Amino acid sequence: MNTQKTVKDYIRTIVDFPHEGILFRDVTTLFADPRGFRMAVDQMLHPYAGQRIDKVVGLEARGFILGGAVAHQLGCGFVPVRKKGKLPGAVISEEYTLEYGEAVVELHDDAITAGETVLLVDDLLATGGTAEAGIKLIERLGGQIIGCAFVIDLPDLGGRERIEALGMDVHALCA
Ligand code: IMP
Repeated sequence: MNTQKTVKDYIRTIVDFPHEGILFRDVTTLFADPRGFRMAVDQMLHPYAGQRIDKVVGLEARGFILGGAVAHQLGCGFVPVRKKGKLPGAVISEEYTLEYGEAVVELHDDAITAGETVLLVDDLLATGGTAEAGIKLIERLGGQIIGCAFVIDLPDLGGRERIEALGMDVHALCA
C-alpha cells in the first residue's frame, strides 16, 4: 500500500467559515508542515522548470506565502498584488466582482517592466475573479504571463475555464 501523503492530505476543510454553508479550504495546515509546504512549492514550480521567470506575482494574502517561497526557489523577484489602499507607492487598480459586492486589487505601477516574464501564484482558484484581476494588472504593465499556479482548483466554480479563456496556462495541485 502506498502511504505517501499528497499535498491535498495536508489541507483541512473548515465547515461554515466564513459563512454558514461554506466549506473553507484551510491551507495553514499545509504551510505549517515542512514536508507539505516544500512539496507544494516544488510542485507549483515543476511545469515551468527551464523557463525564464523574471517575477513571481502573489495574490493577497496566501499567495504571498507561496509566492515568496516560489520566488526564492527560482532566484527571481517577488511582487505583491494587494487589496486597495495597502501599497505605499503609485499603483494601478482593477475592480472585480465578488459573490456579494465588488473588490479592488492594486499593483505598484513600476513593479513589472514591459517584457518581463511572470508566474502568477495563489492558494486557491474558485470563480477566477481574483486571478483575472491580477492578470489584467500584470498585462497592463506589459508583463508576459507564462502560467498561473494554484494549490487548489475548485472545478465546480468555473475558474479554470475563465482563466484559460484568457489564453492562460492554469496549473493546480489538487481539487
Ligand atoms: P475567486 O476570485 O472566486 O477565484 O476566489 C479566489 C480567492 O478567494 C483567492 O484569493 C483565495 O485565497 C480566496 N478563497 C476563496 N475560497 C477560499 C477557500 O476555501 N480557502 C482559501 N481561500 C479561499
